[in-house]
Amino acid sequence: MRREGLAIMAAATVTPESFGPAVALSCRECGARTPLAPDFACTECFGPLEVAYELPSGDPEALRAQIEAGPANIWRYAPLLPVPADVATRPNINPGWTKLVKADNLARELGITGGLYVKDDSGNPTHSFKDRVVAIAVEAARTFGFTTLSCSSTGNLAGAVGAAAARTGLRSCVFIPQDLEQGKIVMAAVYGGELVGIEGNYDDVNRFCSELIGDPAGEGWGFVNVNLRPYYGEGSKTLAYEICEQLGWRLPDQLVIPIASGSQLTKIDKGLKELIALGLVEDKPYKIFGAQAEGCSPVSVAFKTGRDVIRPQKPNTIAKSLAIGNPADGPYVLDICRRTGGAVEDVNDEQVVDAIKLLARTEGIFAETAGGVTVGVLQKLIKNGLLDPAAETVVLNTGDGLKTLDAVEPTTGLSATIRPTLDSFREAGLA
Ligand SMILES: *Cc1c(COP(=O)(O)O)cnc(C)c1O
Ligand SMILES: [Zn+2]
Repeated sequence: MRREGLAIMAAATVTPESFGPAVALSCRECGARTPLAPDFACTECFGPLEVAYELPSGDPEALRAQIEAGPANIWRYAPLLPVPADVATRPNINPGWTKLVKADNLARELGITGGLYVKDDSGNPTHSFKDRVVAIAVEAARTFGFTTLSCSSTGNLAGAVGAAAARTGLRSCVFIPQDLEQGKIVMAAVYGGELVGIEGNYDDVNRFCSELIGDPAGEGWGFVNVNLRPYYGEGSKTLAYEICEQLGWRLPDQLVIPIASGSQLTKIDKGLKELIALGLVEDKPYKIFGAQAEGCSPVSVAFKTGRDVIRPQKPNTIAKSLAIGNPADGPYVLDICRRTGGAVEDVNDEQVVDAIKLLARTEGIFAETAGGVTVGVLQKLIKNGLLDPAAETVVLNTGDGLKTLDAVEPTTGLSATIRPTLDSFREAGLA
């Protein structure tokens, strides 16, 4: 019944131009195709659906020039995304084109000689990478006629959805575990939408949202990471596009990427493969490394023990944005890291804090705990010989340290407190 309702709603508003170069949803397991709709699971095999394209064929030089002439945000890649060609003219949060920072000081500290870059996504509108995925999902939500924007979130997504809903005039109602960091809660609430704390962890929140979608109470609701998940995921491809364009249209040798559900990592790989297929970069091997916190390391454990099946965990880590104990894209992450010759590794909370401070001290970049996880894992991968220090490496910082102050607060603070006199200053030994 409900499915029919959705199909009718979709049919009323979707035109052939609505999704640009996207032509269908296809099943990642069996390859079955279905029309572009707010669906996320294959009706044949229940596998996850993803967006399939007819990407622009022809002169890569012309496409490169078109992209370079585009806006300084993700819409410069509109020809490769499931969005209409005029997307840049519509109200949206317009994320992306964040800095790719050449991190020479950090490289020296870690013994990396092949070049190291930090892709710093704390520079997005709500200070995390989640703005990229939400920007695409909100376009799909409008096209399908949803009136409420929603999500299950580990924190950053809630803020990104709140902001995007505010900008586009949609209602928002988002769901988070009630025990998140204060910075994440305030950041999600300030945009004026509804923010619901759930007594449970992220996996409980996610299960609740899946139930809500199947219920009349969820009628007209677009959950960016559930029924809009195929569109949402495509936003992460823009990280791959930007990194390569910012390197001068070429692939790096190695990428270190954090894993929560694993969507970001799998879509960065998809984006890199598209750039090769389109002739926008020269084909060469690259390695993808996944990063988790020890207190929520289901993919890392599966990688290290050589298993294909991910055993769910109950998360217990300060890296709350990555605390998904049962990651939906886990098996695909494993496959990509193995196929490209990368690895999945994890670090403990103390190492996360140390890595946050290392990045801040060497490069002036204040990362949230997820960034501490990736930098910490980068460090560990060099130590255990899995990552080549002589190869060019890009590490992702996906969020802003101001949202997770609690993590560093116990070990940072004033150097001294003095009276406002030169004598007092000298006595403190700071001259
Ligand atoms: C959500 C999130 C990620 C990764 O998310 P995936 O579910 O793996 O796509 C990474 N870093 C931060 C800060 C996040 O909020
Ligand atoms: Zn299928």
